[in-house]
Amino acid sequence: MARIISVANQKGGVGKTTTTVNLGACLAFVGKKVLLIDSDAQGNATSGLGVRKPDVKQDIYDVLVNEVPIKETIIETSRENLSIVPATLQLAGAEIELTSMMARESRLKSALAEVSDDYDFILVDCPPSLGHLTINAFTASDAILIPVQCEYYALEGLSQLLNTVRLVQKHFNPGLEIEGVLLTMYDARTNLGAEVVEEVRRYFQEKVYDTIIPRNVRLSEAPSHGKPIIDYDPRSKGAEVYQALAKEVLVREQK
Ligand code: ADP
Ligand code: MG
Repeated sequence: MARIISVANQKGGVGKTTTTVNLGACLAFVGKKVLLIDSDAQGNATSGLGVRKPDVKQDIYDVLVNEVPIKETIIETSRENLSIVPATLQLAGAEIELTSMMARESRLKSALAEVSDDYDFILVDCPPSLGHLTINAFTASDAILIPVQCEYYALEGLSQLLNTVRLVQKHFNPGLEIEGVLLTMYDARTNLGAEVVEEVRRYFQEKVYDTIIPRNVRLSEAPSHGKPIIDYDPRSKGAEVYQALAKEVLVREQK
């Protein structure tokens, strides 16, 4: 059975998609079978892995709303061992449509049960909100990985996120854990970065990964080439740190 991890933070632009794509690719690189679920209507994970949205016939919306078997939506990427269930703009309608549906919280969970045995890891790239899509991701997941951008007010909004985790634990998924907290977009040139790291470590303690993701321009260029960082520029700092993160995730997995 796959370990299912949601990458979530209701703030936009904190590095969720970058982390999902590159952690996924680095786990695939060391031989793990990985499935990514793009659960954001922006579809940045989809295009970031070189999938052309006009060519997508069925996506995660069809799985969640139209109950299309998830296997019919899986696309292999050019990185061996890495596949994705894509998202396109139609997913934007899902938040409202799910409201009136049966079993609206557990639709992703039911879908993933059909493929869980085929993978080692399933990573869900969550949208920047705490709506039905995120609740579906949390209900389906073993754990949540929270990217936190190294900026002022980094912790702001996280209590809301943790509240949602508690609600999902209480009502739908008692086993849900915090997988880890990942500091992203660290800028060593400012004092602020170091202060934020300290503050987040004080709050989340051993949950914070030792690996810190620095600002790295190659990481921001890779998606426009449709490649994860280890394929776009394997010698970059970005490739190095996401490989280190993958190692940490595997070590925590074994514990
Ligand atoms: P989210 O999914 O949380 O909205 P993204 O992963 O899409 O965040 O990141 C937001 C923007 O910042 C994107 O343009 C991405 O390429 C860029 N970015 C993410 N992480 C880094 C990084 N470590 N260094 C430089 N740019 C980054
Ligand atoms: Mg995103």
